[in-house]
Amino acid sequence: MNILLVDDEKIDRELVKEALYCSGKRFDIKEATSAQDGLSAISQNAFDIVLLDYQMPNQNGLQFLMALKTQNICEHCAIIMITNNRDEDLLVNCINAGAQDLLLKDEVTSTQLVRCIKQSQRRIELQNKLSKSYQQVKELAERDTLTGLFNRRYFENALTSLLVNMRSLEGYIVVMLLDIDNFKMINDNLGHSAGDAVLKEFASRLNSNFRESPLFARLGGDEFAFVFSGIRSSNSALTIADRLLTTFEEPFHFEDHQIYSTASIGITLSASKTTSEDMLKQADIAMYKAKKEKRNKACFFDEALEAEFYRLFQIENELRLAIKTNNFDIFFQPIFNQTGTAIIATEALVRLPKSDLNASPAEFIIASEKLRLIETFGRMIIQKSLCKYAQLLNCTACDTIALSINLSPLQIHDLNLGSFIAEQAKLYQVDLNNIIVEVTETALLENNNITLETLKVIKEHGCKIALDDFGTGFSSVSHLLNYPIDIVKLDKSLIERTIDDKKACAMLQGLTTMLHKISIETIAEGVECEAHVAICQKANVSRLQGYHFGKPMPIESLIKILSS
Ligand code: C2E
Ligand code: CA
Ligand code: CA
Repeated sequence: MNILLVDDEKIDRELVKEALYCSGKRFDIKEATSAQDGLSAISQNAFDIVLLDYQMPNQNGLQFLMALKTQNICEHCAIIMITNNRDEDLLVNCINAGAQDLLLKDEVTSTQLVRCIKQSQRRIELQNKLSKSYQQVKELAERDTLTGLFNRRYFENALTSLLVNMRSLEGYIVVMLLDIDNFKMINDNLGHSAGDAVLKEFASRLNSNFRESPLFARLGGDEFAFVFSGIRSSNSALTIADRLLTTFEEPFHFEDHQIYSTASIGITLSASKTTSEDMLKQADIAMYKAKKEKRNKACFFDEALEAEFYRLFQIENELRLAIKTNNFDIFFQPIFNQTGTAIIATEALVRLPKSDLNASPAEFIIASEKLRLIETFGRMIIQKSLCKYAQLLNCTACDTIALSINLSPLQIHDLNLGSFIAEQAKLYQVDLNNIIVEVTETALLENNNITLETLKVIKEHGCKIALDDFGTGFSSVSHLLNYPIDIVKLDKSLIERTIDDKKACAMLQGLTTMLHKISIETIAEGVECEAHVAICQKANVSRLQGYHFGKPMPIESLIKILSS
């Protein structure tokens, strides 16, 4: 066992050595005659025990312990203080400062000393174990297990405290949000292990390229967040963002594959009174702008985005209030047969109470998806639509009119949606065969089994499935074959183009022929004038919907039309 004896008095050192020799055990003893010598001996050698005189000329035992602690050496070595001082508080102070035990000089006997050494060693062992498991628990709570970077919770807390202390910092606090551009494709094409490999390699590149900043976090998925403080200008923020983007210049590696990728970054600078939540939202909006404009790019949250941010914030408030108080309405737009002589269906379209914001359904539906409110809101919409539809059936003799309800892509991740619709239909005594659910192609793009399963269950209950907004975005023929689709709604942009565009007319005709061949019905959206009607009839589109026939209206107005 290696022992360091630190004492300025020769006699005292001899006394301790004598006691150790007499114990009959083998000790390797080194001596230091001052605190200074003691500290340098500890930094050079590994000791099991330090026997430390409390009273030395330049430094007392407590100061010695402090110095040890700040130098972060001597983790596994037990420290026993030796003193003439009988003050009881001293023992407590020494233990608090990191000593394991304290021995009075006149009690230094062989037996006492050996007992004290054994005890202290056991104590330090236990202390180290405890601190190790504390560290592990802390790591688990603060770190992302895949990349070892901080997690969202830690990040938000750390950013919050940085913002609280912002006044004492020079320069700006900058938050950046980074999203990998083609991550979904990597996962889809090479599997999740490939995605994981990219995330890990990216994290390790960050750690080696940016040693100076401690606050990097993986927020989830392929989204990373960074905080840099003391930034003096937006230009220096851009330089950092460029450095982040260059970590994508080299390919990532997975098995034999070389994976090339890029990223988009949103940047925001701290202003007074911003919260961490605000900063993350702003960086998120800027990141989406970067993605939209051009991938592999960094964008600032600027004045224009600020207005957008403020609007989004207000929409969020209105939306939350509407959901909480169940204060929203459903309007109904009629859908006509091909000749335009009879209403055969009606589409339910949600409306928020009138306000100065005048947020469009497209805006607040997207907001509710982003805020993960759509699951709840979507179910409330279904319930209210069925309730009003039942009212329409009761007040008119039109029990063959179908009801179309829009579903957001996130809603069809919910396998229980089919049974929810069935329950509500039963409650309002509505025939499920008269219900159509409208889904957009983006919902099918994810191409996952849950989406397919959810749609199958909905269909098994008797509902029909309509593919909405066909002809915008990705229109893929394979969706028509892979999903149980009964109706295709031809988007208004397509109908709009048919005026003065022979090609568009021919395409409309071809599309309907193809769809009807595979037993899919068609509805033209955005039929706004006689000319549209004529073109759709010529193209043999089965049903017509648009302002020419009627705008979305309150249920009472539709009842009036149907009763007249
Ligand atoms: P959508 O499903 O394509 O709904 C049709 C939209 O086109 C409606 O806008 C309707 O008012 C509008 N429209 C109908 N005929 C014409 C026309 O002749 N010309 C023009 N220019 N527009 C016409 P709205 O109500 O503003 O809804 C916009 C979008 O918001 C909807 O597009 C749908 O994606 C979403 N949405 C609306 N209500 C709901 C809902 O209850 N749930 C979900 N998930 N989404 C909804
Ligand atoms: Ca629709
Ligand atoms: Ca549509």
